[in-house]
Amino acid sequence: MDIGSMLCTPKEPKCDHCPLNYFCKGSASGNPAKFPTKRIKKPIPHMESVSAVIKKGGKVLLNQRPPIGLLGGLWEFRIGG
Ligand code: SF4
Repeated sequence: MDIGSMLCTPKEPKCDHCPLNYFCKGSASGNPAKFPTKRIKKPIPHMESVSAVIKKGGKVLLNQRPPIGLLGGLWEFRIGG
């Protein structure tokens, strides 16, 4: 039995015939059509930064980011900002 397509349809769940009825929070709420609730999306962070490539004698200056945080431990051209 495919519960998702036969019993627990989004608009008309048939909780009376469902083997999960005893455990289901949607059914217990009295309004199973409202489950699952949509998650609120977090806003996408916007960051601004400046970087520069410093070359001297055929070498390039790189900086290793702190081990914890955004892109932790990766190497980058020196960033300020
Ligand atoms: S009891 Fe739960 S899983 Fe079963 S049909 Fe109702 S809402 Fe869907």
